[in-house]
Amino acid sequence: MSAESFKRGLAAAAKVFTSQSREYKVGDEVLACTFCRGKSFEHRRVLLNTAAATLVNLDWANAQASAMVCDQCSHIMWFFKEPTRVL
Ligand SMILES: [Zn+2]
Repeated sequence: MSAESFKRGLAAAAKVFTSQSREYKVGDEVLACTFCRGKSFEHRRVLLNTAAATLVNLDWANAQASAMVCDQCSHIMWFFKEPTRVL
């Protein structure tokens, strides 16, 4: 395999990786942005810990939530349980 075809292979692999579905489901419903109705999201796990919560010693303070960031308008929707990716 030439270096050039190896590079092309890598580029193709990178494209496949980045083009994977960014659609998610919550229960049976496909997640849609409440602002623009977009269906493509970036998923981030976010700690719910805050200084105030730590101060009053709340049990849920160290819990994580899912922040779903709309690809189209960047609106953030929060979920306590992680949405499942649509394959
Ligand atoms: Zn949106």
